[in-house]
Amino acid sequence: MADEIANKIFIYNSLSGKKEEFIPINKNLVGMYVCGPTVYSNVHLGNCRTFLTFDMVYRYLKYIGYQVRYVRNITDAGHLENDADEGEDKIAKKARIEQLEPMEIVQAYTVDFHNVMRSFNALPPSIEPTATGHIIEQIEMIRTIMDKGLAYEVNGSVYFDVKKYSEKNNYGELSGRKLDELREGTRELDGQSEKRDPIDFALWKKASDQHIMRWQSPWSDGFPGWHLECSVMSSKYLGDQFDIHGGGMDLKFPHHECEIAQGKASNETSPVNYWMHGNMLTLNGKRMSKSTGNTLLPHELFSGENELLEKAYHPMVVRFFMMQAHYRSTLDFSSEALSASEKGYQKLMAAIETLDKLSFTQNEFNDAEDTAIVGLCEQCFAFMNDDFNTPRTIATLFELVSKINVYAKKGSIDNISEKTSNLLSETFRGMVFDVLGLKDIQDRKQGPLDGVMDILINLRKEAKLSRNFELSDKIRDELSAAGIQLKDSRDGTTDYTIN
Ligand code: AMP
Ligand code: ZN
Repeated sequence: MADEIANKIFIYNSLSGKKEEFIPINKNLVGMYVCGPTVYSNVHLGNCRTFLTFDMVYRYLKYIGYQVRYVRNITDAGHLENDADEGEDKIAKKARIEQLEPMEIVQAYTVDFHNVMRSFNALPPSIEPTATGHIIEQIEMIRTIMDKGLAYEVNGSVYFDVKKYSEKNNYGELSGRKLDELREGTRELDGQSEKRDPIDFALWKKASDQHIMRWQSPWSDGFPGWHLECSVMSSKYLGDQFDIHGGGMDLKFPHHECEIAQGKASNETSPVNYWMHGNMLTLNGKRMSKSTGNTLLPHELFSGENELLEKAYHPMVVRFFMMQAHYRSTLDFSSEALSASEKGYQKLMAAIETLDKLSFTQNEFNDAEDTAIVGLCEQCFAFMNDDFNTPRTIATLFELVSKINVYAKKGSIDNISEKTSNLLSETFRGMVFDVLGLKDIQDRKQGPLDGVMDILINLRKEAKLSRNFELSDKIRDELSAAGIQLKDSRDGTTDYTIN
């Protein structure tokens, strides 16, 4: 893209509660950190929404010419049940129930996460560090915080001293929470007797005999507190102060509030310049969440195997559905909304196909038409620059679709200059493919298996039409035995998935 970055981007910073102009610390390398998944179960569609939001942010920054170092961690230790400071490690618990090694759980769900992200066409981050790979650095950071007098040890565990920290800092600056309210909220919980103050949080926990995920430290055989890994890995790879930190809204407190406190305590600087929080994907009006079971899994959508769904949806349709909402708005999942997104997605793809095929008739700059197209192309950028407003960018793309369809009827682009025609093509394709991260589903149809499957699906359809159910069932069953599932939709089409 542009050699010189002309775009002024405004980002809503959760810390100030305002949109602020994005001025990176180092304009040659933007640092972005996003809290990754805790790998003890399959990622649900809500998790995917947050990761796809930051994939879009990463893509857009790159598209307008920034180099970005994007770090997204894998939480593979230290995240306890109920996001608390007491209780079993989420991964260890799953390992105990399934009678597996914790690292087998970590591996299985990391692989699942990567597969899901790939199916959504998400770009891999520049670095994907793990908590267990950074135990030494976590111990180092605890030492530093203790040396500054802002953490204390009790019975082999180390806690962050929130009250002491608050003498010079504002614990609650991100979440807006007040210390007294927090104290009242935490007092009823058990198991906090070790802490000097119930609002203190764990940096290191001594492991009980049953706790299998444990490491040696100067204080005990134990494990790091959940908030520490992100402070350690972000500062290690992006510096003590970096540009963008992202995650879902639910991570604002305590996770990100604690990250700010740890960063300031150890490095005497606020670690992050722009805090970005994505809003929640809801299902039946309630937050999609692993703990309540109110979830939809990506593979259920791709196969259509969930009672909420009338049919299967391609990952690109689901991605488009997510991009149609602003990342700071809640988004409610419904089959109807997905169907509408499918139509919209197909319209966009059809417009690109048309654009590729249309011939161009040489023209002078046409005041009305050239100006209109240039204006719409600029608007796409203007909306993206305004806190990554993908829904308004998409609405603008649809205005361009109307223009393209008029050209299609005429058979050629005959009333704009070549320069504008090129701008139209570049902007449209750039926004759809590079920024929104969509791919044409037809790519998928180009493999040799797709051709064979089309033949088999049509044979089965013909067999059904001639009431030869023996043959139609045979085709379905034998494909199933070979690991290929056919899925009939209510609209009469048939798709397939491979097990
Ligand atoms: P977890 O693996 O639970 O730590 O979550 C991974 C990411 O998904 C975090 O950034 C969460 O904030 C985010 N997340 C969890 N539930 C939802 C949801 N329903 N909608 C959007 N993001 C979510
Ligand atoms: Zn984190």
